[in-house]
Amino acid sequence: MIGQMMNSPLTITSLMSFGEKVHGDTEIVSVTMDNPLFRYTFADAFKRTRQLANVLARLGAKPGDCIGTLAWNDHRHLELYYAISCSGMICHTMNPRLFPEQIDYIINHAEDQFVFTDIFFLPLLENLKDRLSSVKGIIVLTDEAHMPDTSMENVYCYETLLAAETDVFNWPEINELDASGLCYTSGTTGNPKGVLYNHRSTVLHAFAGNLGDVMGLGTDDAVMPIVPMFHVNAWGVPYGAIMSGTKIVFPGPKMIDGEALTTLINEEHVTISAGVPTIWLALINYLKESGKTVEPLKRIIVGGAACPVSIMEDFDSYGVYTHVAWGMTEMSPLGTYNPFLDREALGEEEFARLRVKAGRCIYGVEMKITDEQNQDLPWDGVAFGSLKVRGPWICDSYFKMPDSDAHDADGWFDTGDVATIDPSGMMQITDRSKDVIKSGGEWISSIDLENTAVDHPAVVEAAVIGMYHEKWTERPLLLVIKQADAELSKEEMLAWFKGKVATWWIPDDCLFVEELAHTATGKLSKKDLREQYKDYRFP
Ligand code: ADP
Repeated sequence: MIGQMMNSPLTITSLMSFGEKVHGDTEIVSVTMDNPLFRYTFADAFKRTRQLANVLARLGAKPGDCIGTLAWNDHRHLELYYAISCSGMICHTMNPRLFPEQIDYIINHAEDQFVFTDIFFLPLLENLKDRLSSVKGIIVLTDEAHMPDTSMENVYCYETLLAAETDVFNWPEINELDASGLCYTSGTTGNPKGVLYNHRSTVLHAFAGNLGDVMGLGTDDAVMPIVPMFHVNAWGVPYGAIMSGTKIVFPGPKMIDGEALTTLINEEHVTISAGVPTIWLALINYLKESGKTVEPLKRIIVGGAACPVSIMEDFDSYGVYTHVAWGMTEMSPLGTYNPFLDREALGEEEFARLRVKAGRCIYGVEMKITDEQNQDLPWDGVAFGSLKVRGPWICDSYFKMPDSDAHDADGWFDTGDVATIDPSGMMQITDRSKDVIKSGGEWISSIDLENTAVDHPAVVEAAVIGMYHEKWTERPLLLVIKQADAELSKEEMLAWFKGKVATWWIPDDCLFVEELAHTATGKLSKKDLREQYKDYRFP
């Protein structure tokens, strides 16, 4: 028997209407390329979103079209998120750090009809202008006074287009399964692959992100998403904050500027923020240098890559609690979250052991680990294997790749991560499966080794890669960037691991380097590093 409840669709449009009606006075503060501190409310934002929907219609964009964005985290990008998806179009957020040929590929693959770009990224499009055959127009996210000169045709000014439209717009009825957003993975192998989100997955993901033991945003918070809106929807914050009536502070292009972030936190009373470890290192370094504090900030969410313990400890000293989260583009991205742990009740040792883990899966995400024969492994905190997930905000198949089932026959998506899960459900990533080091048939976690290395006060950044070894097939090689003025020998560096990791895990050699290759999402690129050091032989 079917239940007799209303079948109201879970759409981003409903989220927008709710935000406007219920939390219309909530503030949005935004740094943009043309304004150091723009300020308005949810109600103002959604009024402009309707003007923007009229702009899209006037330009000739149709439901089902992909509309590209190349933009920082700011209020105009928020308007685009809502106007595009709620018009029945697909908001294709592009990561400007992809290689130009990858941007060329994704614009053409998505057949973007229009691209909205920050001034800063316009040269990137200019270099590709002869190759963007689907693109009918480029809209620059600025006002008339700041419009740059350009050699391209069909370039419009965002504010001028908006000013010409009314704020009356009848949003179309949308099926909750309709596509709403598109984000390409950074494509460490082959071309980037498109993950096509829908209205339902986006709304459910926002609900989940707002659970008490997850981000749990509230009306007494002010959230600053530093994680880019061009990469997996800033981890869902632009939806979760609207759902919970939370003030939003957008840092614009000032994403890795410790001074600007500190000022925003203190002046706008930011209580919670989210970003990758690199961002937090920049902020911590600035705080240490300047002697400033970040009193309003209560908690930060670190994800996208393993979080060094030193970052957590540094934030402890500023009264900020660090939560680790794990996820990926294919997962919208939230998968697990490490909740607030009671340090006193747990005791120092247990607290230190638990806080570094990626956390428990969030309701909505099922998770398991399997061995090489696809057999389930126990949740004992020791066994490690391929981490698999399934759930309503996890990719089913890739965009325009009809035979690209992203999951196995039982519906599990293989994340490509290797992990342990302990009896309390706490998951810990030990590696990417392709980065795992297999020494004499046993796995060594490169992430554990990197974290241990980074905890050394003289180390800025470290990477560990598996290199050919005559006897063991593969052994770990440590690559280290050290502090400019630090005295640190190879022997001292390797001795640092003693007692901190299993003896047979200790890298066989250490090279001090000037720089380490990174991907477009700011993670160590092990693939490039392996290529770069392929001729290396252990002494
Ligand atoms: P990309 O496009 O670079 O793949 P994603 O954001 O999709 O970017 O990357 C997801 C991957 O990032 C995960 O599969 C995992 O390897 C890594 N990752 C994310 N969060 C964490 C974390 N908390 N600890 C360790 N690795 C993480």
